[in-house]
Amino acid sequence: MSGVETYLAEHYEEALEDLKAFCRIPSVSTDPAFNEGILAAAEFMANRLKKAGFASVEVLDTGGHPAVYGQVISDAALPTILVYGHYDVQPPDPLDKWASPPFDPSIREDRLYARGVSDDKGPLLIPILVVEAYLNNEGRLPVNLKILIEGEEESGSEHFEPTLERNRGRLACDLVISADGAMWRPDRPSMTVASRGMVAIDVTVTGASKDLHSGRHGGSAPNPIRALCKLLASFHDAEARVAVPGFMDGIKSLDPTILTAIDVADFDAGAYYREIGTPKPDPIENGSQLLVRQWLEPTLEFNGIFGGYQGPGTKTVIPSSASVKITCRLVAGQKPSKVIEAITRHLETNLPAGYGLQIEPHGPGSEAFSVDPNLPGLLAAESVLAELLGSYPLRVAMGATIPIGTAFRKYLGAEVIFFSFSTSDEDYHAPNEFFRLSNFRTGLVAWARLLGRLADHPKLEPTIII
Ligand SMILES: [Zn+2]
Repeated sequence: MSGVETYLAEHYEEALEDLKAFCRIPSVSTDPAFNEGILAAAEFMANRLKKAGFASVEVLDTGGHPAVYGQVISDAALPTILVYGHYDVQPPDPLDKWASPPFDPSIREDRLYARGVSDDKGPLLIPILVVEAYLNNEGRLPVNLKILIEGEEESGSEHFEPTLERNRGRLACDLVISADGAMWRPDRPSMTVASRGMVAIDVTVTGASKDLHSGRHGGSAPNPIRALCKLLASFHDAEARVAVPGFMDGIKSLDPTILTAIDVADFDAGAYYREIGTPKPDPIENGSQLLVRQWLEPTLEFNGIFGGYQGPGTKTVIPSSASVKITCRLVAGQKPSKVIEAITRHLETNLPAGYGLQIEPHGPGSEAFSVDPNLPGLLAAESVLAELLGSYPLRVAMGATIPIGTAFRKYLGAEVIFFSFSTSDEDYHAPNEFFRLSNFRTGLVAWARLLGRLADHPKLEPTIII
């Protein structure tokens, strides 16, 4: 055990008290009633960074909830790592479902229960404690380390990208390590290496210029609900895959390491459908197919459909318009702008005569994120996990969208790896959120070793950074 690891073990009880103190602050970002908690958590983080030995600690004005920044620059010749995390948490509701109060941390069976402890206060505190251990033990870090702690992750990160853009200079780095994220399963170490992108579109089909009486006009007037349903029925094939020409253009072949993880995972499709409360649909035959669909294939989902009378009783109306909200999850190689074009073309081509069409995308959308399979930082993180946890981590993908992956690449030119010691079953966003303290202890050792191993991480060409 290195001196740093011995130090971390000896100071574990203090670390736990720090984590409890952090969790006592109700830093719910979405509800203005918790604004004081947000400011208190930002201040708590700034003070904790200073105590750990970070320099240039600053609470950054973002235009929304503040972000917190700090850095330890050891030697300009060393690689620079930027650590990301967030101090804000989800609302604790429903309060009556908690076995102990959400902002009064409580330990049961080596798990710490509190809102935000797994997402992301526990995993975020780990690298800060590790920096402190290095500085108190060796007087320096093996790398230059910067940290950026966001306060709006749980409420849409509205000011995050502008903050990255404004602070490009100070955030310049060779690799970003996110302390946010989660291991996929408690029984196998994993690294998240891909997530799907997204585009969102609203579509409205119009008929007559006003709503019409279905007796007087039925049979002669166009019905936009009928036209919309016909259009929507043309979006998928019999296997429930997207059948829009051009939609799949550019998709890269499936990453073999993720396919291996899917095979090893031995996912139970029956249990999954029981949990979500639906019989297994026809196109899905087994757990591997299900994970391929969730992680590696794009989707087009109808999220809401509107038109005509929706109140009690009946109304004999032919509506003048009908609309649908669509979101698509994208995979590696798909360009959001091309996907929007393909959907637009498909709608225009298939729109029956006698109807109008309005198509409104919500913003430009986001591309899928995937880590270069040979990224030195990823390989280093995997070797640390293999050494500590006894088996090589599975490379897993996520069906949901992780916006920070593409944001750091866009504004800093740096790649991101996810190195979190939270586990996806720890009820974050739900009552009785907990963090396994065994993972807190493992995480401290893992971060200490990872920073050591990143001392020879390649440095980015300075030309990439503005
Ligand atoms: Zn999080």
